[in-house]
Amino acid sequence: MKTFFLICVALVSTPLADAQEISPADHPVDSMTKVKFALAIHGGAGTIERGKITAQREQEYRAGLESSLKAGYEILKNGGSSLDATEAAVRVLEDDPHFNAGKGAVFTSAGTNELDAAVMDGKTLRAGAVAVLQHIRNPVSLARMVMEDSPHVMLSGEGAEKFAVEHGVKLVDQKYFFTQERWDALQRMKAAEKNRHAASTITDQDRHGTVGAVALDQQGNLAAATSTGGTTNKLPGRVGDSPIIGSGTYANNATCAVSATGDGEYFIRATVGHDISALMEYRGMKLAEAAQTVLDKVAKLGGAGGLIAIDQNGQITLPFNTAGMYRGQIDADGKFAIEIYK
Ligand code: ASP
Repeated sequence: MKTFFLICVALVSTPLADAQEISPADHPVDSMTKVKFALAIHGGAGTIERGKITAQREQEYRAGLESSLKAGYEILKNGGSSLDATEAAVRVLEDDPHFNAGKGAVFTSAGTNELDAAVMDGKTLRAGAVAVLQHIRNPVSLARMVMEDSPHVMLSGEGAEKFAVEHGVKLVDQKYFFTQERWDALQRMKAAEKNRHAASTITDQDRHGTVGAVALDQQGNLAAATSTGGTTNKLPGRVGDSPIIGSGTYANNATCAVSATGDGEYFIRATVGHDISALMEYRGMKLAEAAQTVLDKVAKLGGAGGLIAIDQNGQITLPFNTAGMYRGQIDADGKFAIEIYK
């Protein structure tokens, strides 16, 4: 693993470096047995422009993405499942206040935090989702519990939290989710509602963000996981695309695994995840073309954002129609990259 860390450090300290090879010894892709695994993650898309983020801040985002990739990669490398890897990668980002999920969740118009998440297992097409959570530190893990320990696909609000307690999950106070930055963003959004001039100061960073992971494991199984605080100033009770199976999250071994980020309402209407899968399944389209086709559909509706997707061969695509998207990947050839801008 030494090389992995060295590469990570090199990338973190060299923002322009986009991709480097991991030594074959560190990434056991065996061309004879064709054992492959790969992982991609995202931390939200939006008006993320070079020069608008300080070097220090960029470093912090890169460090968060690197820890997330590392958590998922370790599991895949040791033969673990794509489901475990995506959950682990997302949990790291949920615990990182820089990203709009878990700890760093944005505020609703009522000044509360409401979190959504989902997981999907491409092998069985089983899925679990949670929405409108107010006291769950790691919504992605609760989504997985809904999938594995309940007869349902989605639980929301109080019922979801009651289910969590019954399954041994400790609730956290809403205070846990407070970050000054997200609170200030809510105040700016509220000011912008009253004053058009103030609206020009609002960035996508203020507005939304999401985290997600997709993976292929050594057994050839795909999985996807997504977690979000949703959109700043959303009405209480609003649910975005992230926990909607077939929209912000989808996985099917026959096609691909997808996790999306962006204007949730548009991603729901475009049924993004399943549409990509359907283009591959019914039209025989390749992953990258299918993903771009559906993202173009989102743009046509007026939506902005991006997605990460992976197929059965470990091919990865990370398209977005915004200025940037926090993203990282370790592909089936062992190529490792963390990127932010276009
Ligand atoms: N898609 C998320 C939502 O609408 C937000 C985002 O990804 O930026 O809840």
